[in-house]
Amino acid sequence: MSLRKSVPALILFAALAFALHATAQDDPAWTRPFPPFRIAGNLYYVGSEELASYLVATPQGLILINSSLESSVPLIRKSVETLGFRFSDIKILLISQAHNDHCAGSAKILQLTGAKYFVMDADVSVVESGGRTDFQYGGRADMRYPPAHVDRVLHNGDSVRLGDAVLVAHLTAGHNKGTTTWTMNETETGKTLHVVIVGGPNVNPGYKLVGNKAYPQISRDYEYGFHVLKSLPCDLFLGAHGSYFGLPQKYARWQSGDRDAFIDPAGYKTWIAGREQAFEAELKRQSAASQ
Ligand SMILES: [Zn+2]
Repeated sequence: MSLRKSVPALILFAALAFALHATAQDDPAWTRPFPPFRIAGNLYYVGSEELASYLVATPQGLILINSSLESSVPLIRKSVETLGFRFSDIKILLISQAHNDHCAGSAKILQLTGAKYFVMDADVSVVESGGRTDFQYGGRADMRYPPAHVDRVLHNGDSVRLGDAVLVAHLTAGHNKGTTTWTMNETETGKTLHVVIVGGPNVNPGYKLVGNKAYPQISRDYEYGFHVLKSLPCDLFLGAHGSYFGLPQKYARWQSGDRDAFIDPAGYKTWIAGREQAFEAELKRQSAASQ
């Protein structure tokens, strides 16, 4: 085959491979319903099997973390109501990151509940433009979602308070410019448990860690994010995706009576270390290739 013929074929193949990978929306676990349950204290799981959403219940109303896909909204609503709460009592909506699998449903939820939307500073323009200013996917129509107005701009280390609940927003960027890891303390049978909801430390296919004009500080942000994640005390290991922390496996244990199934400080450390190694290996590979 001549080069002239093979180059377009190669480009087509690469585009196809990328498109196939990027449409993880086709992963049935993203939309597969999952039983809602109380994790600890006033913290509940209300997401699908893979797209994690959390509910924090207080006497002054509810906080929801992650609206997920547009199609997730009815599932989340059903989970909230199955637990005995009113969807309209959601006062504050938070997200892990401004990718469509965590925030595409936000506009709908804000409209249905009248909740206020609190988003990390560097992700504000992304959610308010419906994904158009995303450094990687801004040009991808299939990654867009309904824009949603942000009511409060969060900064690294800010607290979100409602009733007796206090959540802290930690900037753990790189995956997005505003990737947010949420922490809070829960009390369960007299013990204080440190909760960490990891925002997303993965390097997606196609991410440029070296010479990224749209996000020049990307690799420094990842490094800072891993520094933060390693410094957070963690008893209850949770995250934006169920697969981060082994949701189905731990839930099976929870269901058979092990109420400590999600307490996993060692699993947290191991998983973060693995993600950091994957980042470092990719950075090394890209640095070598750019020389
Ligand atoms: Zn993402």
